[in-house]
Amino acid sequence: MIQEAVKPASLKEAAALQKQGMMFLSGGTLINWAPAQIKAEKVILLEGLLSTGIEQKGDTLEIGAGATLQSIADSPAVPEVLRTGAGFIPSRIIRSMATIGGNIAANRTDSYIIPVLFALQAKVETAGGEIMDVYSYCTEERSDLIVKVLLPRVDGSAAVDRALRSSAAYPSAVTAVRVADGDCVVALGCAAPHAIRLKDVEQGIVSKSLVSEEDIFKAVYAAINPPAGLKETAEYKRYIESTLIAHSAVQCRKGGK
Ligand SMILES: Cc1cc2nc3c(=O)[nH]c(=O)nc-3n(C[C@H](O)[C@H](O)[C@H](O)COP(=O)(O)OP(=O)(O)OC[C@H]3O[C@@H](n4cnc5c(N)ncnc54)[C@H](O)[C@@H]3O)c2cc1C
Repeated sequence: MIQEAVKPASLKEAAALQKQGMMFLSGGTLINWAPAQIKAEKVILLEGLLSTGIEQKGDTLEIGAGATLQSIADSPAVPEVLRTGAGFIPSRIIRSMATIGGNIAANRTDSYIIPVLFALQAKVETAGGEIMDVYSYCTEERSDLIVKVLLPRVDGSAAVDRALRSSAAYPSAVTAVRVADGDCVVALGCAAPHAIRLKDVEQGIVSKSLVSEEDIFKAVYAAINPPAGLKETAEYKRYIESTLIAHSAVQCRKGGK
């Protein structure tokens, strides 16, 4: 339970407070969510400190880390695939509080946007001025203060999909795929402790050794070994994740989405 909340005057001060063991609080939807069981006694309030803007600058779309998932879902400047992923969290109330920076830093395997950000080759800018791929931030389990999310212009078609057992359930699968000439990203949540990329499958799609939906399905199926979920078997998750990716990859190759 939160015992102390500090409002820093600057990003530098916020980053320094984190080094003293305090935890950032942005939208607070994860920190204050009882099932997440996060021990946050002293928090650093980020509201008002982080940009909430969404702005195209040259070839890069800059999204302030304080932008909410609802504002991303609503923004015509944001690629459709990310708008769709941001809209997947079922409650508008949660979407209107949850921030993109908080979602990336939470690094949950069931994030609806992290696989999409992998597919779009998004980067984060930290308070220390470092710019790194969202993929590196998540796989290295970083906790640096994120101030911006940067979306470069990328080629190809992209799709996000998910499987749910009911409208408010945790997802059994979250998938994002982007296919372009000579380039492909296949990203997947709910299959490992954090979202992953299937680089061998990506290579197979680029080299065209994997073309048909059936072949892509088999390659994904062989590459993953998800744990069982609360209400679904591991075998069901493996099947549904492979199905979603194979379908999305074929649609993207056709330029369908
Ligand atoms: C009913 C419900 C359903 C949910 N369903 C999902 C779901 O399906 N998928 C999912 O991924 N999440 C889900 N969540 C969790 C949560 O809503 C999201 O992960 C949300 O995007 C977190 O953003 P936030 O701004 O609220 O983060 P906060 O709760 O404020 O913080 C989350 C974590 O990120 C850190 N943090 C926050 N901002 C930054 C920053 N700018 N830089 C570095 N670290 C930072 C915090 O210290 C904390 O560790 C759900 C929550 C609820 C209540």
